[in-house]
Amino acid sequence: MESTSDANSLPSGPDARKRRVSYFYDPTIGQHYYGQGHPMKPLRIQMAHNLIVNYGLNHKMDINCPFLATTDDLSQFHSDDYVNFLASVSPDTLNQTPFSRYKERFNIGQDCPVFDDLFGFCQASAGGSLGAAVKLNQGDADIAINWAGGLHHAKMSAASGFCYVNDIVLGILELLKVHRRVLYIDIDVHHGDGVEEAFYTTDRVMTVSFHKFGDFFPGTGHIEDIGVGLGKNYSLNVPLNDGIDDEDFRWIFRPVIQKVMEMYQPEAVVLQSGADSLSGDKLGCFNLSIKGHADCLGFLRSFNIPLMVLGGGGYTIRNVVRCWCYETAVAIGEELDDQLPENDYYGYFAPNYTLLFDTCGMRNLNKPEDLVEMRNKLLEQISKMPHAPSVQFQTTPSITQAPEEAEENMDER
Ligand SMILES: [Zn+2]
Repeated sequence: MESTSDANSLPSGPDARKRRVSYFYDPTIGQHYYGQGHPMKPLRIQMAHNLIVNYGLNHKMDINCPFLATTDDLSQFHSDDYVNFLASVSPDTLNQTPFSRYKERFNIGQDCPVFDDLFGFCQASAGGSLGAAVKLNQGDADIAINWAGGLHHAKMSAASGFCYVNDIVLGILELLKVHRRVLYIDIDVHHGDGVEEAFYTTDRVMTVSFHKFGDFFPGTGHIEDIGVGLGKNYSLNVPLNDGIDDEDFRWIFRPVIQKVMEMYQPEAVVLQSGADSLSGDKLGCFNLSIKGHADCLGFLRSFNIPLMVLGGGGYTIRNVVRCWCYETAVAIGEELDDQLPENDYYGYFAPNYTLLFDTCGMRNLNKPEDLVEMRNKLLEQISKMPHAPSVQFQTTPSITQAPEEAEENMDER
């Protein structure tokens, strides 16, 4: 991992406006291509990076090229046969034995095709989230960003919803080596099913997903799904309807997260900042502006707990790029000029060439009385959990925990 700027020179500390931000970016990520007509475009990561650099934000954070996650790294969550398949299949061999017989089992097809260097793409995405976790574990950053991560639908032994390797689960497992409780928050328009499933039976990770629910992919994320066994009450689902706007989203997001913070007292937070919840997304149906979307990050940042920020969905490319660039600035604590600087993809931002964009005039189908009822139900659910579970609360930060102790805690999972 190489560092090209000195984050130590940046102001930081609990009360400072600035945060030490570590940013992970692999310059080859944008060269990966899911195929003609496929909505998932890794190029958006490269475009966002280019805009970030042209705004000069690269001078205000620590820039890292992630190491490529190894098969051993991926096997911390994924099954060996699935990892071996991803590592050895190619578009040319997919329909030959032995690969062809795994297609169905691993859910390879139209949504999740095998493309050139698929494994390299997975390694870079997961390597970024693992690198981000290590930075936070070492206390070398307050916020760590990997826009190539956030692939929340990937399962232990299957691809799903354009996701193959669950970099989020891997990143959280890494955080659990040093942090007793990790809070995962997902604001992608789709339910964060892969992450919820991975931690459904533990109280060491609490998952909270805000998503469109009802005749929408992946179909899970009902409000009654709250976890099982030790994990009961440590999964939270906020099922929303089409057209939710900034005001309503914030009205439910802030109090729910505030209460979770008070009760759960996480030692690290992971935000999946999927941008398909923005207004006008090609696959989404919410009506958030960039400021409304970024308010979630701004709110989480204010708690000053180690924070990992990941990408995810987002299919109206120009708006995804705008959003993640804006949110990188929010993480750092910088304000950006609304007029876009010259950049390699300037033409994409016609006709206004501005950072922010106007939301479209869609109807908000979330009835006020339904939102009130849901918020009350969620707050009640959160109040049912014991304060700071699993490990007795101490004032000493867990980062000083002896390695043996951290190992033992892992075993309880
Ligand atoms: Zn999504």
